[in-house]
Formats: sequence, structure tokens, C-alpha cells
Amino acid sequence: MKWKESVKGLKAYQPGKSIEAVKKEFGLSEIVKLASNENPLGCSPKVTAYLENAVHNFALYPDGYGTAMREAVAKHLGVNGDELIFGNGSDELISIVTRALLQPGVNTVMATPTFSQYKLNALIEGAEIREIPLKNRTHDLDAMLDAIDENTAVVWVCSPNNPTGVVIEDAPLQAFLKKVPKDVLVVLDEAYFEYVTNPNCTDSLPLLKQYDNLIIMRTFSKAYGLAAFRVGYGIANKELIARLDPVRGPFNNTVLSQAIVPVAIADQAYIESCREINEAGKKQYIAFCEKHQLDYYPTDTNFILFEVKMDSDVVFQELMSRGYIIRSGNPLGVPNYIRVTIGTKEQNEGLLAQLEEVLQKHGVFA
Ligand SMILES: *Cc1c(COP(=O)(O)O)cnc(C)c1O
Repeated sequence: MKWKESVKGLKAYQPGKSIEAVKKEFGLSEIVKLASNENPLGCSPKVTAYLENAVHNFALYPDGYGTAMREAVAKHLGVNGDELIFGNGSDELISIVTRALLQPGVNTVMATPTFSQYKLNALIEGAEIREIPLKNRTHDLDAMLDAIDENTAVVWVCSPNNPTGVVIEDAPLQAFLKKVPKDVLVVLDEAYFEYVTNPNCTDSLPLLKQYDNLIIMRTFSKAYGLAAFRVGYGIANKELIARLDPVRGPFNNTVLSQAIVPVAIADQAYIESCREINEAGKKQYIAFCEKHQLDYYPTDTNFILFEVKMDSDVVFQELMSRGYIIRSGNPLGVPNYIRVTIGTKEQNEGLLAQLEEVLQKHGVFA
């Protein structure tokens, strides 16, 4: 068959072993998954209550404009409905942006390490990828600016960045946006927006009034605890949204996904409580790292990337056999570090107790 050159040799996303598979392999009855930055507390109880009584006609296609969820998100953010685009997760928005703008002969600029989907989508479209290493643990925005030329179509900035958890602060972000050419789209991926507590990183929405070449992406998959429903959204001026919208599939958010969005976004008290509990959990990991003199990245998310001073694949395997699934830093581009989703107090205690034993056993604390 006549496959695109760019698709040959691509490997499918490795989602990590399922809870069921790990239970079976290691004969465990309990597994704690702290690998994909899902909210350990789940979603708002108001969403669960809504779903118990929800009545829908499943024979019908969903509303292709997602009117109710669009209105709810627009009202919450204080923007107009035509300044929003919804995706089947922000993953789909990444692919929509890529399909609309990237092709052979153009290039795209991103940090490394950063969220893997920017690169994968760009590879599929055959665009040139310019990866700029982090500097002082954050995006090297000056080097990213230098990498932009007349063939650059999209620049990806991820704040807080995955897998490091580090934000881009307001001042450098604004200085960067000022210098990006107006015909280059800047994607600001804020998947962890609701978890940010850094006082030097405030709401980015006002930037949209200043920059017509900016799109901000957020999601219901992380703090909202609704990853299963696959709802992400982009915020930009209406001309930009109107360009992207034809690239979107017509019924890309399901009936139930659309229905829960107004319920979830109305419960901001729940999001606040999740943020507070996450802050407390963060302290458990930081205390562990400081006690054992392990380096860690300052995180504004519900995960933390920290040093294990040994092969992180081995730590990953050992923790899995003890019932905890985390991410090894090796495939994320940060060897000898692990990325752990901040769980409940008990989950964090359990994981850290097991990790302490593993590191002890391998002589890390000797
Ligand atoms: C999790 C994540 C996403 C994807 O979120 P979905 O809305 O579930 O597709 C996007 N960007 C970053 C940085 C993420 O960590």
C-alpha cells in the first residue's frame, strides 16, 4: 500500500499496563495507578449524581456544536462561544492544529522534554521538528525564538510542562509572545491549569486580547477528574477558531461528555478542594526528596518528577511488582528520574514506603 513516508516506522503510543494486567501478572489484589496524572479523587460528586439519573436518546448523534457545554465553558471563562473549539480530549485539538498547519516544507518548534503528542502529530504530517532543550528546568524561550524562521508554522509551549511540572512564568511568557512573528501560531497547553499555585503564573486568558496568533488549550481530563469522557477545549479569537473548526470531526464529543461539562464546571468548590489536597500531597514527596537528598523539579501540577539515583526502569518494575504503577523517566527523556502522579495521602504514603525499600535495596542511600 501507498503509506505516507512519515507514517512508516511510527510506533503506537504505549499506554502502560492496565490495572487488570498488572494484578494478574504479579498476583496482586490492589493496584495503585499513579502514572497518567488522573485525579486520584475522581470527579465532582455532582457529576456522578447527574449520571445516575441522566436520560438521553442514544440513537441520535450528539449536538455537533456542543451548544450546552460551549455556553457553560464560555460563561465560566468570560469569553464568547465562538472563541472556543472542543476536542475529544486536548489530544484531538493537538492533532487538529497539526493537520491545519503542518506539512512537509514547514517546521514546528517545541521544548524537549515536553508532551509527546506535539512531536508525534508533526511527524505524521511530515513537518520538520525543532526541539529545544529545557534551560534552568523551564522552556528556553530565547532559544525557541531563535529557532523560528519563515517556515515555522506552530510553536508549542506547555505550561506547566509535562513531564517536568514546571510553569512558564508571566514575564518571560509575555516577552516571548511579543517577539513571535504574528503569522506563527503559538499553542499554550495548560492541561494542568487548575493545579497551578505559583504566584508568578496568573491567568493567561487576557493575553488572547493582545495576541491573535495564540491558542490556549485546557482539559477536563486532569483536575476535573473526567479523563474517561475525553473533553478538551481551545480558546482563541473567533477568526482563528473558524479556521480550525472545519478540520474537527463533526460529532467529536459524545452526548454524555457534552452533558457533564456544565455540571462539572459549575462545581468550582470541588476543584479548589482538589487543588488543596494536591498541595498537601506534593509536600509528602518534597519531604521525601529532601530527606534522602533526591533532586526534584518544582511542580505546579498533580505529578512530580524526581531523582532516584538509579535506573528508573528498574524502579518502575520494582514498584509495579509491589502494586504501584508510575512512569519511568527513561522514555520521557529524563533518565534516573521517575514521574509520579500525586495521589491521596494514603496512596502517597504507601508508594513512598515501597520506594524507600527499593532504593535501600539497591544501595542508593549507602
Ligand atoms: C494529559 C495532557 C493532555 C491531554 O489531555 P486530554 O484532554 O486527556 O487529551 C494534553 N497536554 C498535556 C500537557 C497533558 O499532560
